[in-house]
Amino acid sequence: MSKTTQSGSEPPTDPADDPRSNYDYQSSEVEEPELVDDLEAIVEGEVRFDTYSRNLYATDASAYHQLPIGVVIPTSVSDVQAVMEYCAEHSIPVLPRGGGTSLAGQTVNEAVVLDFKKQLDGIVDVDPDGETVTAQPGITLARLNNHLKQHGLKYAPDPAWGDKSVLGGCIGNNTTGAHSLKYEKADGYVEEVEVVLADGTVTTFGWMDIEALHERADSVGEDAGIEERVYAVVSDILRNKTDEIETRYPDLTRNVSGYNFDKLLQDVKARGEVNVGRLLAGSEGTLGIITEATVSLEPIPEETSVVLLTYDDVISAMRDVAPILEHDPAAVEVMDDILLDLARDTAEFSKLVGTLPEGTDSTLLVEFYADSIEEGKQKVADLLSDRLPGYGAAGEPSEDGIRTDDAIQAVDALEAYDDDRKAKFWKMRKSGLPILLSRTGDDKHWPFVEDTAVPAENLPEYVADIQELFDEYDTFASYYAHAGPGVLHIRPLLNLKSDDGVEQMLEISDAITDLVIEYGGSVSGEHGDGRARTTWNKKLYGEEIWQSFRELKAAFDPQGLLNPGNVSGDFDPTENLRYDTDYEFDAGFDPDMNWDNENGFQGMAELCHGCAGCTGHQDTTGSVMCPTYRATENEEITATRGRANMLRRAMSGDLPEDVFSDEFIHEVMDLCIGCKGCKRDCPSGVDMAKLKTEIKHEYHQREGIPFRDRLFANVETLYRLGSTFAPLSNAAMKLPGTGLFMEKAMGIARERDLPTFKRNTLKKWDSGRTPAVSAAEADRKALVIADPYTNYTQPEVGKAAVRTLEAAGVHVEIPDDVTDSGRPAHSKCMLDASRATARANVDALAPRVEDGWDVVSVEPSDSVMYQNDYLDLLSGPDVEAVAENAYSVMQYIDTFRLDEALETATKEELSYHGHCHQTASSRDHHAVGVLRRAGYNIDVLDTTCCGMAGSFGYEAEHYSMSKAIGRLLFDAVEDSPAEEVTAPGTSCRSQLAGTDRIEGKPPHPIEKLETALQ
Ligand SMILES: Cc1cc2nc3c(=O)[nH]c(=O)nc-3n(C[C@H](O)[C@H](O)[C@H](O)COP(=O)(O)OP(=O)(O)OC[C@H]3O[C@@H](n4cnc5c(N)ncnc54)[C@H](O)[C@@H]3O)c2cc1C
Ligand code: SF4
Ligand code: SF4
Repeated sequence: MSKTTQSGSEPPTDPADDPRSNYDYQSSEVEEPELVDDLEAIVEGEVRFDTYSRNLYATDASAYHQLPIGVVIPTSVSDVQAVMEYCAEHSIPVLPRGGGTSLAGQTVNEAVVLDFKKQLDGIVDVDPDGETVTAQPGITLARLNNHLKQHGLKYAPDPAWGDKSVLGGCIGNNTTGAHSLKYEKADGYVEEVEVVLADGTVTTFGWMDIEALHERADSVGEDAGIEERVYAVVSDILRNKTDEIETRYPDLTRNVSGYNFDKLLQDVKARGEVNVGRLLAGSEGTLGIITEATVSLEPIPEETSVVLLTYDDVISAMRDVAPILEHDPAAVEVMDDILLDLARDTAEFSKLVGTLPEGTDSTLLVEFYADSIEEGKQKVADLLSDRLPGYGAAGEPSEDGIRTDDAIQAVDALEAYDDDRKAKFWKMRKSGLPILLSRTGDDKHWPFVEDTAVPAENLPEYVADIQELFDEYDTFASYYAHAGPGVLHIRPLLNLKSDDGVEQMLEISDAITDLVIEYGGSVSGEHGDGRARTTWNKKLYGEEIWQSFRELKAAFDPQGLLNPGNVSGDFDPTENLRYDTDYEFDAGFDPDMNWDNENGFQGMAELCHGCAGCTGHQDTTGSVMCPTYRATENEEITATRGRANMLRRAMSGDLPEDVFSDEFIHEVMDLCIGCKGCKRDCPSGVDMAKLKTEIKHEYHQREGIPFRDRLFANVETLYRLGSTFAPLSNAAMKLPGTGLFMEKAMGIARERDLPTFKRNTLKKWDSGRTPAVSAAEADRKALVIADPYTNYTQPEVGKAAVRTLEAAGVHVEIPDDVTDSGRPAHSKCMLDASRATARANVDALAPRVEDGWDVVSVEPSDSVMYQNDYLDLLSGPDVEAVAENAYSVMQYIDTFRLDEALETATKEELSYHGHCHQTASSRDHHAVGVLRRAGYNIDVLDTTCCGMAGSFGYEAEHYSMSKAIGRLLFDAVEDSPAEEVTAPGTSCRSQLAGTDRIEGKPPHPIEKLETALQ
């Protein structure tokens, strides 16, 4: 099999291959070196049995933890075959893994993990006429669908995290998503799978006439191989267990508990054929390893329309589900009060939740598919005239619209027809789970009964019973997700670090299993069995089906090597928990910054729950988090999740070496570039940049601060000298051999041009000037900070800021006593230095702020330093006052609509790359707004951090990583229709300078605003 189409953009050269890099994504301590030698001799892919890799693959999005034996990253089916053959010979368990987004612990096992996401992610063939695609298992569903869009087709199962999870994992868990009212689970789309069996043989499972199956089964002899024995067992099940299957399997479209015998039966009835490949769906890696899959596709609907119905309580919302289903929606999704309250507190969704009518407790998001916008509006209008009479819908209801007799439950509605609004509604709903997991205390909302399903008409009684049960245990949960097909996400709040918590987990699971059975439902309607639910399958299906599960497993996997314990095994759900009574946490130092959350530094260090939100790609997920993972294309240790897992493991004493060892610092901490992307994009707000700053600060206390760090932290002195001796200093930098010397002597990458210093600084320019607007005639007074970059190297940016603000009627001064914000020292994690600068600046600025001055920076990372980071370093009303009155120049103009006083004229097209710190603090829209009002046609680039990250990109060992991250930005600039790009960050402009599309350094947005002035 050959990989014919690359799904995403071409993978970059691995930055770790640069001989100057001091990381290779692994630790030097390797477990089982002989096993490694053996495997390396038979596979082309990487074999990683080091302690870091084992820890990185020890968790997924579930409550569980178990160290794997090691990790292999296969590059071909031959690699997979070789590993399986070897492991079968030596009785070593094997676990195939995709995105590791499983919520029940099915990718957590003591086994050799095969990571498919990293390398085996190609599209092999698309057959638009036959509406099928053949692909490798490691491709994300989002990339698969991006590729299929050109044919008007899509792979229909749409799990919420489809941009992080992959085809193999999707089939492995029998995944489906919000649109399961219209589509089937993954099993319904499997046409053919290439599978490596438990003895290493490779075979293909596809459609087979039922009679042919029985004939083949009847001729199976004693010494038959795995494939033949599988046919024999499947034939036996279909001949002898049909009554039991029909009786015991719940009548639901969303049942993924156990092996899916019901699907086989449906296929036999519908087409007289059987597809053993479909048994692999939902088998959770226990039956075979998929190396290629051909799946059928669905046409992409022309249009969708969305309406959010609001309710006074969740039971009313549940009562409305069944009548809404009469209207044939594509999705019905619930969010209750707990989630809405949590969403209200997030920067991303507070505005949207704020538009809901006062008193809203719960919502149902209802989506329709339609052939046109008009039809979409009409379907919403039909629904509303039935379920919310009197509401003035945007569309006209049809005359023969459905009328249900049920009592009215909804209170109000919000309609969405444009793509942005629809996407926002959906995003809020899909981020539900991680938002819920923002709690930083020991009590957390754990997944173990989080995807039960019951028929929609039973939801009100079922939810009422669960609430009663939770009252008994003095706990609560939120109710959200796919109410239409009866699947609710329910996560009770428990402290699993206590005996009581673990006991409650078991008792609640048991009681909910009983309830589910009583209401004709399933223990798992979405996320699978794994460690959490395998144990309940016997109760759900009864002894006979359970025995058939075991017979099937024995036929596929006689030695029990494939992901043992899952589906038909003997997992105890209270074992191998990530947190339990033995768990201990010791940071090993006293944190230095302000940690205001419930559990301080530890609360933040334990906040990541492994959902894998930080493992998306730039082309499908967008936004900022996490640039290093995107640049390395799927290196787990370079994702926020990888770092968080490593940190927690180290601080709970489970890594051989200390957090403060050189290796941990270089491999885990140093590659976090402090872009703060996770602080905003991680729906739980994991602030890895702040965690890293604390840890590196402590590392400095222990090991001393390297000379280069001191140099970069002291930009003010360095740049002052450069400016004083300009143009001599500039000429010296350009002498042949200077770059190499700088690299050898100071570790500064030879490829980087150092800044060109200006003798005529911003301050010099200002000193001979009378402000154009006097304090007396101005409504606002601004202190424009002459930060070292602006003052000594780009005074023209500062001048543009001063002149534009004055044109807008602002009285402007450039203070002499405040220059460096402390950002350079802070980004080198030198907290004593950054705090001292912050203290001096606050002392200087606070009295002036009180006197009505605003603090304005042209450098975005400086404004965020004043606005946010100072609050991590200092406490008190004076720092709060400075933080509240600090602005970036474009934010300042936008916030006070100063541009209303400006006369501008332009129609130029510009692309805009925002600074990651501003994006992370949700202040990036200001520049775009101002430039658009000035007349520019702005293409806002959906870009991550530029990769410079202060001095990171100048450091020789990080140069290649910086460039690999930058490539994501260069590609976006290249793809933009705009000829010119603007960016507020100095570092971003340096990174962009000299790339294909750009001559010299791109301008700052304030320069473009000044250019547009008439
Ligand atoms: C925030 C969040 C939202 C989610 N929303 C949904 C949702 O809407 N719907 C839904 O169904 N699920 C959802 N899930 C669960 C999960 O994301 C899906 O089940 C997803 O399809 C798993 O894909 P993955 O690539 O992460 O697989 P993994 O977790 O890596 O693996 C899943 C299973 O497949 C097996 N497997 C992986 N690759 C192979 C292979 N090549 N051959 C054989 N077996 C293999 C693994 O052994 C494992 O048992 C959600 C999870 C999270 C964290
Ligand atoms: S860092 Fe955030 S997004 Fe990433 S896995 Fe952890 S919780 Fe999820
Ligand atoms: S701060 Fe940026 S680089 Fe660091 S973990 Fe967060 S998103 Fe990744």
